[in-house]
Amino acid sequence: MSPASATGVATSGIPVMPERCDFTVFGGTGDLALRKLLPALYQSDAEGHLPADTRIIGVSRSELDDDAYRAVVHDALVEHVGDVDDEIAERLLGRVSHVRLDVEEPDDWHALHGLLKDRPEVEATVRVYYLAVAPSLFGPICRRLDEGGMTAAPARVVLEKPIGHDLASARVINAVVGEVFDESQIFRIDHYLGKESVQNLLVTRFANTLLEPLWNSHWIDHVQITVAETLGVGERADYYDRAGALRDMVQNHLLQLLCLVAMEPPIEVGREDVRDEKLKVLQALKPMTAPDIDRDTVRGRYAAGLIDGRPVSSYDEELGLPVGSLEALTETFVALKVEVQNWRWAGVPFYLRTGKRMDRRSSEIVIFFKEPPHDVFPHRSGVRAPNRLHIQVQPDEGMRLHLTAKEPGPGGYRLKPVSLDLNFASAFTQRSPDAYERLLMDVVKGNPTLFMRRDEVEAAWAWCDPIIEHWAETALPPKRYAAGSAGPTPAITLIERDGRSWQEDSL
Ligand code: NAP
Repeated sequence: MSPASATGVATSGIPVMPERCDFTVFGGTGDLALRKLLPALYQSDAEGHLPADTRIIGVSRSELDDDAYRAVVHDALVEHVGDVDDEIAERLLGRVSHVRLDVEEPDDWHALHGLLKDRPEVEATVRVYYLAVAPSLFGPICRRLDEGGMTAAPARVVLEKPIGHDLASARVINAVVGEVFDESQIFRIDHYLGKESVQNLLVTRFANTLLEPLWNSHWIDHVQITVAETLGVGERADYYDRAGALRDMVQNHLLQLLCLVAMEPPIEVGREDVRDEKLKVLQALKPMTAPDIDRDTVRGRYAAGLIDGRPVSSYDEELGLPVGSLEALTETFVALKVEVQNWRWAGVPFYLRTGKRMDRRSSEIVIFFKEPPHDVFPHRSGVRAPNRLHIQVQPDEGMRLHLTAKEPGPGGYRLKPVSLDLNFASAFTQRSPDAYERLLMDVVKGNPTLFMRRDEVEAAWAWCDPIIEHWAETALPPKRYAAGSAGPTPAITLIERDGRSWQEDSL
């Protein structure tokens, strides 16, 4: 554990764990708080990562006293952590309280302001405000915190996606929060960046010499990034139907993964450099014109089908729309061919796809290297596949390098693909922490490296907006795909017309 400092920033400028923290979760009774945030705080407490003097304050409009809220949190821990240790749970619950507050009612705020001010060493306490509420409430919350004098550094605010539905609305949200908090106090979370495998991509690229000389258009043929889910829209239908796959997944998660694959080496990890380099990738994305969008993007929407042998309804049925409704334009699947226009990546396509109700749950990055320049085994038998580096982000994080080897035995060269396994579960004995655990502790320490800066979010929207606008103008319905399939047929054509095919096997 890092040495503790009063405010979370050591004199060296390196973020360290503060001694005191008030962690306020706006939306403390919501799905995100109970399923992800409080379990992550429990695990951090169990690992000894939480500052000893930490209070966790859940805020919502529900009429819950502290004990009733603790019971809600306890149930959530049992459901989402699994094997809960009574002693650790008791310690965590001892830190927890609840404030009933409608953030839009100015008169409701006295209790929270009073609670935050009522503690020893109040000036040296790191205040974290996690906004696990709809973005429309970000403004009212920031303004009331500011009126209460609760926003001075080392206070930090955490914003969840969606940060806007286009560039203009993202700018409004960023401006509202930016009126109150300095950019250095704002932590825009993308939980994909907290995944061990994603951080390991940085280490694999930049702490080894083996790959970096090959990491360019001379040796890489193409890159695939897939985020496939078997779940449908479920409870989030209302939000999702206004967003669609491009806004919900590509603008943030997939473009962030692309940035980490494509970025130049930062001067140092842990300062602004990683974010600077990611921004340059976003700025180098080739803007898509109308013909590009028609040719290089595919939208899909799931029809009824089978997931794990179980029949599931279509998206239209889930939303109560007439089946096959032509007016329905929201996509639940998108595939794109993207170019990064810079020296390193000129001519290397990045194929991205994401969808709901697909045949498997998998988030992965696959780097396909080029074929050897000359075939010295023309009379071989067996299979020679191009080298590829396969990074599995979820469900089972890991990395595998696929090479070609000779199958033992006489009688010429029989070639066979083999793989070098870098499976985290077997290479390391420690428990792999959930992404939120890592990210929440980074917020408490004040380490912004794995969070999205305002300019990154806006650059990503600036690239996505013309695609969304063109789709809206042409108003073509998304292609149907059966639930439990690999997506609509045109998505397969998108890559196969280039003589390539989607990686369909997970690690
Ligand atoms: P949710 O289950 O609907 O929870 C919303 C929370 O906000 C509840 O605790 C609710 O409590 C509280 N709330 C609503 N209006 C309030 C008000 N005026 N004053 C005080 N509290 C209020 O939503 P969620 O799924 O947790 O998501 C929260 C936000 O995170 C959303 O913007 C969502 O898009 C985003 N997000 C969620 C997830 C996820 O996995 N769930 C993932 C990524 C992003 P009361 O109704 O009792 O006030």
